[in-house]
Amino acid sequence: MGVKVAKFGGTSVADVGQIRKVEAIIKADPERRYIITSAPGKRSRTDSKITDLLYLCHTHVQQDVPFKEVFSIISKRYIKIVYDLDLSLDLAPHLEKIKKEISGGATADYTASRGEYLMGLILADLLGYAFVDPFQIIHFDKNECIDMEQIHESMGTILKKHPRAVIPGFYGSTCDGEVKTFSRGGSDITGALVASGVEAEIYENWTDVSGLLMADPSIVENPKPIDTITYRELRELAYMGAKVLHDEAIFPVKEAGIPVLIKNTNRPDDPGTVITKDAAPVSHKGTITGIAGKKDFTVIVIEKALMNTEVGFGRRLLTALEANNISFEHMPTGIDTISLVIEDKQLVHKLDKVLAEIKAECQPDSLEVYPNMALVATVGRGMIHTPGIAARIFTALHRADVNIRMIDQGSSEINVIVGIENSDFKQAIRAIYKAFVK
Ligand code: ASP
Repeated sequence: MGVKVAKFGGTSVADVGQIRKVEAIIKADPERRYIITSAPGKRSRTDSKITDLLYLCHTHVQQDVPFKEVFSIISKRYIKIVYDLDLSLDLAPHLEKIKKEISGGATADYTASRGEYLMGLILADLLGYAFVDPFQIIHFDKNECIDMEQIHESMGTILKKHPRAVIPGFYGSTCDGEVKTFSRGGSDITGALVASGVEAEIYENWTDVSGLLMADPSIVENPKPIDTITYRELRELAYMGAKVLHDEAIFPVKEAGIPVLIKNTNRPDDPGTVITKDAAPVSHKGTITGIAGKKDFTVIVIEKALMNTEVGFGRRLLTALEANNISFEHMPTGIDTISLVIEDKQLVHKLDKVLAEIKAECQPDSLEVYPNMALVATVGRGMIHTPGIAARIFTALHRADVNIRMIDQGSSEINVIVGIENSDFKQAIRAIYKAFVK
């Protein structure tokens, strides 16, 4: 029998109604053998996520303020879930222990991790699956990075012993024996690590949307869903703000060549989006996969005659950024010009200093600053070796009266980025979408 790893996000386990959907999904396919769960998320827009409430408990203790009331909201939510599911599981001793540990000054990571821990106990009980604490199988090395080698070893000795198991997401253990969490949304990473560790045939990521859309629905009306996207395309779109999976979740599955399927717990029959190998075929050449963008960049344009003959020019320029702890996003170049595209927030209180240092170090003929810029990326493996793609993008922008200030095409040919004014942002995305999607 094959092995599928299925991860369910916070909204999928927010209350009994949602958990019943999760149960039905798991029972519908016996190959769904390893289940990763988030902590219960919001039940409505005004509700709180359990993880946020747990962090709040920790902050209260740090400030020497009683946290009993916040903790009782958490306890009540879990107790209600157990009651509504009609389980005989007794959570009281677990809740008592956690409360005691939080009041005794437990770390923020430990405290936050209990949301997933408790949800894991409940789901394991409901499904009749083994409960495996990720403390035993997800490891961080002494630099607090994922320790892949040890993870694989533990999965082989601990997890694979269980034909079916529930594993709480979001945390693991350090080499000092402490609980450590990933960054927020990190249960996606747990799922990817488990999928890689058990050599799953697929990693299903169940959430509250039916996969990725070709553009942001708040900008483009009713954008088409993306049925297949490669890891690399996803990375490009995610970098530009299209979020459906934690950034760090891609790497473990990509390395192992395991496809990821994004599915909607509330609409399980929707096909969802498959994230697959970079070499995945594309149905039509000349098509795009998606469009995404980000606002609020500053472009610094440095011009100097015969820049190309000046040894060390680039290094001196970048030293001015490094000295001010600034990273850049893109660096398009001309013969005698270099542009640096930098997020506005990185330049707060630093711009004048950086400009002065560039002047002193590089002695440019001119130095110009363009604030309020946006970047829009058109991404697609269907663009590779296809003439006319850039022309279509630029014609669309021209017709929409959008002035292009910068153009950058990655050498992989799956991405064309244009720099435009912030105020043209939505207009540009709509125009490009219309040019490619009929
Ligand atoms: N519960 C954690 C969070 O809210 C992790 C997750 O849901 O993936 O960030």
